[in-house]
Amino acid sequence: MAQDNSNLPTPSDDAPAAKRKELLVQPPPKLARPDMREKPTVVLGGGPAGLTAAYLLAKMGLPVVVLEAEDQVGGIAKTAVREGYRFDLGGHRFFTKAKEVETLWHEIMAEEFLTRPRMSRIYWRDSRGHGKFLDYPLRGPDVMKKLGPIDLTKALVSYLWAAVKPKGKEETFEEWVSNRFGRWLFNQFFKSYTEKVWGVPTSEIRADWAAQRIKNLSFFTAAYSAFFGNKGNKVTSLIDSFNYPRYGPGQMWETMTEDIRSLGGQVLLNKPVTKLEFDGDRIVKVHVGDDEVYEPSAVISSLPLRNAVGMAQPHPRGEVITAARGLRYRDFLTVSLVLDGEDLFPDNWIYIHDPNVTVGRIQNFRSWSPWMVPDPTKACVGLEFFCFAGDELWEMEDEKLVQLGIRELEQLGLARPDALEFGFVTRVPKAYPIYDEEYADRVKTIRSWLDGLDNYIQVGRNGLHRYNNSDHSALTAMRAVDNLVLGTDHDIWEVNAESVYHEEEKQDEQQPYIQPPETESMKEPLAR
Ligand SMILES: Cc1cc2nc3c(=O)[nH]c(=O)nc-3n(C[C@H](O)[C@H](O)[C@H](O)COP(=O)(O)OP(=O)(O)OC[C@H]3O[C@@H](n4cnc5c(N)ncnc54)[C@H](O)[C@@H]3O)c2cc1C
Repeated sequence: MAQDNSNLPTPSDDAPAAKRKELLVQPPPKLARPDMREKPTVVLGGGPAGLTAAYLLAKMGLPVVVLEAEDQVGGIAKTAVREGYRFDLGGHRFFTKAKEVETLWHEIMAEEFLTRPRMSRIYWRDSRGHGKFLDYPLRGPDVMKKLGPIDLTKALVSYLWAAVKPKGKEETFEEWVSNRFGRWLFNQFFKSYTEKVWGVPTSEIRADWAAQRIKNLSFFTAAYSAFFGNKGNKVTSLIDSFNYPRYGPGQMWETMTEDIRSLGGQVLLNKPVTKLEFDGDRIVKVHVGDDEVYEPSAVISSLPLRNAVGMAQPHPRGEVITAARGLRYRDFLTVSLVLDGEDLFPDNWIYIHDPNVTVGRIQNFRSWSPWMVPDPTKACVGLEFFCFAGDELWEMEDEKLVQLGIRELEQLGLARPDALEFGFVTRVPKAYPIYDEEYADRVKTIRSWLDGLDNYIQVGRNGLHRYNNSDHSALTAMRAVDNLVLGTDHDIWEVNAESVYHEEEKQDEQQPYIQPPETESMKEPLAR
């Protein structure tokens, strides 16, 4: 099944020149904090949340300064560029049910916002060791065809065996899934990818977590969608089209940055925030590096919650520091490769359910947007490895990681090593805030400190330690701006949260681990 790119020109055709937007300043009807006109609101972090806040403030004609530590905007949703090729770290679909976010995204991107079809499949090995692709979302006839009579029989016998003789106790993910789907299906389609994502054996993942995750996207829900479609895009993981900026997600954040600057706001790069100085319940100074200081009227911060606590001076009370110290993260890295020849597969991305390789997912950037790959004779892919900062994979030299990437592509039968033109590595620390047994209490303790502050608000994904996608990260920023400018009392923490691990739309407060792993990054100082 080939991706239909027929509605799109090839990248060698000139992209239509982006029309200049008319950026009108619209002062707010009332200003709850008059000092916001005199002194800038300082926004910490130039990712989706920080930039959204800054854009809205700049549009109101209020002074705003964004401080971003890196030399590029976009945060986790940035686009890496090498020799004209563009790489999305993780594959960012723009899809939201929040009307105001949808409107904002279209306002920023205008005709540069493409509508793209989704195609993704599962790569797995059948019992004879042959690599195969299974359509995902599942399609009934495809499952029958790809499994074939031998594997279908195995699946059925193992399913019936589990139904007749279920394992008595169901404490782990492994036991829960095997009881419901049979051991064979568990081994083929649940075990390896889950272990790659979470970094522990499925025997160390809780049964409750499986029950919560799998109940809404069971084989049967997927099978229902396979036969009857996914009307109304109810399950986000099964959406069949989404928006995407012509040049990758980074284009959204770069355009937003240009707009903020055109409106008189500042977006400053290479500005690592190091200290947050409070006087009672008010933030009075933001320090960058050792010798730069900004005096804000208010601060909207998308810094990871852990770091924000660590940077506060005077230090919050001991229990807040202890709570912040225990927050954990799962990290990930992308090995981006440009290869000579045709695309390796037509999908946007494929899930790798083969336990013999480390890679978890592979993105194919031409299918996201043909403009990501300027040379039609090259293929451009991103291999995603889930890891913990400080572990063996994370610490591996870049060149070795590139070699690992191309070796695994060969193992999967997708590319030959001599096709490699060049490759590079992007590490994404704190890609996923971890929900462990204690995280909710820890966040509650930290909130009790934040709630007492007058002009400092945390927003975003790591800013709230929630699985917020970029739409919900943006929405938290919108609510924060309202609270400061209009004096509303929105509860930022109530903005919907959505898991990106399995991309389903629902609240996910459960933690996966029976015993959460002690990670290297927990030893890091709270502030650097
Ligand atoms: C693998 C993966 C796939 C994803 N797929 C999707 C998807 O398909 N659709 C979707 O909508 N969302 C997706 N997301 C989620 C999306 O990336 C996040 O919701 C979004 O990037 C969060 O925005 P943010 O501004 O809160 O945080 P971030 O993107 O983390 O930005 C925070 C910014 O703060 C900066 N910063 C940190 N410390 C400092 C400091 N001390 N001083 C100054 N600046 C600092 C960082 O450099 C960064 O630029 C995905 C995430 C991952 C990991």
